[in-house]
Amino acid sequence: FSSGHKQALISLSDKRELAFLGNELQRLGYSIISTGGTASSLEESGVSVTKVEDITHFPEMLDGRVKTLHPSIHGGILVRRDHHHHMEALNRHGIGTFDVVVVNLYPFYEKVTSSDKIAFEDGIENIDIGGPTLIRAAAKNHKDVLVVVDHEDYPAVLEFLRREQDDQEFRRKLAWKAFQHVASYDSAVSEWLWKQTENGEKLPPSFTVPLSLKSTLRYGENPHQKAAFYEDNSISVVNSGGIATAIQHHGKEMSYNNYLDADAAWNCVSEFKSPTCVIVKHTNPCGVASRQDILEAYRLAVKADPISAFGGIVAFNTTVDEDLAKEIREFRSPTDGATRMFYEIVVAPKYTEKGLGILRGKSKTLRILEAKKSDKGMLSLRQVGGGWLAQDSDGLTPEDIKFNVMSKRVPQESELHDAEFAWLCVKHVKSNAIVIAKNNCMLGMGSGQPNRLESLRIAFRKAGGEEEEAKGAALASDAFFPFAWKDAVEEACEKGIGVIAEPGGSIRDGDAVEFPFSSPMSGTERGCNIRNG
Ligand code: 5GP
Repeated sequence: FSSGHKQALISLSDKRELAFLGNELQRLGYSIISTGGTASSLEESGVSVTKVEDITHFPEMLDGRVKTLHPSIHGGILVRRDHHHHMEALNRHGIGTFDVVVVNLYPFYEKVTSSDKIAFEDGIENIDIGGPTLIRAAAKNHKDVLVVVDHEDYPAVLEFLRREQDDQEFRRKLAWKAFQHVASYDSAVSEWLWKQTENGEKLPPSFTVPLSLKSTLRYGENPHQKAAFYEDNSISVVNSGGIATAIQHHGKEMSYNNYLDADAAWNCVSEFKSPTCVIVKHTNPCGVASRQDILEAYRLAVKADPISAFGGIVAFNTTVDEDLAKEIREFRSPTDGATRMFYEIVVAPKYTEKGLGILRGKSKTLRILEAKKSDKGMLSLRQVGGGWLAQDSDGLTPEDIKFNVMSKRVPQESELHDAEFAWLCVKHVKSNAIVIAKNNCMLGMGSGQPNRLESLRIAFRKAGGEEEEAKGAALASDAFFPFAWKDAVEEACEKGIGVIAEPGGSIRDGDAVEFPFSSPMSGTERGCNIRNG
């Protein structure tokens, strides 16, 4: 098998489409060399294979730890064909060149995250050594060696080989993908090892993030900023959903700010179990409502703040069908009762064909996204000069909410429910965050103010000020109240709030809880202060 003869090396853990690949390569005149399991599987599919050990004249050793790590393999991959002395060396040692290397790695991530917790030693044994070495060698020498790590690339690779016309761009893309595959793999191994250390138990996971370009963006937050969307290719993130994996069915291309807003809306609406509509503007939810009837939920979410909702992002956690799509198309702004509502983006887990057709007709620019709920708590990162702040994502779900009742008055069932709803909403409002909610509907919110009292006043204004509506509602605050008297708690109580949910943590917590006041909703001794704990 010296030079001139076309050879492909195949070593796969994930053997999907292997029979197809083997047969096609054979048809194209390639000799196939494989490791143990891959060779057996190819033979079963009627493909003739040479085993790696017949080339290395070494058996697979050390329980498979050493299979392909041998000059007869790596020489044939790394050789520079335009270097005469390289080719001479191969000939001297009777080593053949490889033109194609197809490898994917031990399913390390799946093994260490599988439900039956595996022992540390098993985790170690699942670290692939020879595979990444093959991939890196082939990717380095991609000028002459095609490196394939993804079964979805088989058809394109076979087509490329059939054409027998060189295309260095294609080879580079495959090499880039190969290094991504290895980087992603190594990041999963390093994350797992981190978790096995003392630090790993206390701290968020360390991260090496293999990124790939998802799309170039016209500009960033402002037109003079260059921008792009890079997708996180960590094994732990791929396929777990989220806005990066959303499908765009229609509309203008997504902008930098569109992604931020769509992400905020999608994360917020994914929080709720019952049919819910969330409307986001400038990354903050300005309308949230849950109703069995999703049409009603939509109307209520708009009504919460129609001015902000105009030009916003509408997210649903239910299928958008014909009726809902019509409602989105037709609904008129409650501010003037005439103008049809306009949105930048609609995002939902599913659309019926008819629903999609109607939305497409609403406007040319309306971006329609179909998103998958992200099922894994992702690491949340923020950049500061020279470093990153990392925290576990806030994975709070309704089941996790456990309120401690701090006040003397015990809240009623409905008040607790409102507090829970407000608490889920406030998690998605940028601080200082205040949310007022009642009957599965956000009535008002305040955010981004340098003091909590201001946020609270804004929230009340949106909720309709002193009007009946906010009476007996729940108020959630994303942080403790530093003072009680002449401050947020006092104002909230005076305006008739029935229940307050806040995380506590102030040295004056006691004052806020014990705050004596005579509420206009007299009869109740005072609003009760619940604490999440
Ligand atoms: P097979 O099922 O063919 O026996 O094994 C395929 C797997 O072995 C592939 O996932 C490949 O990455 C891995 N592999 C190939 N060569 C070596 C090696 O020398 N050492 C180790 N530990 N794994 C290898």
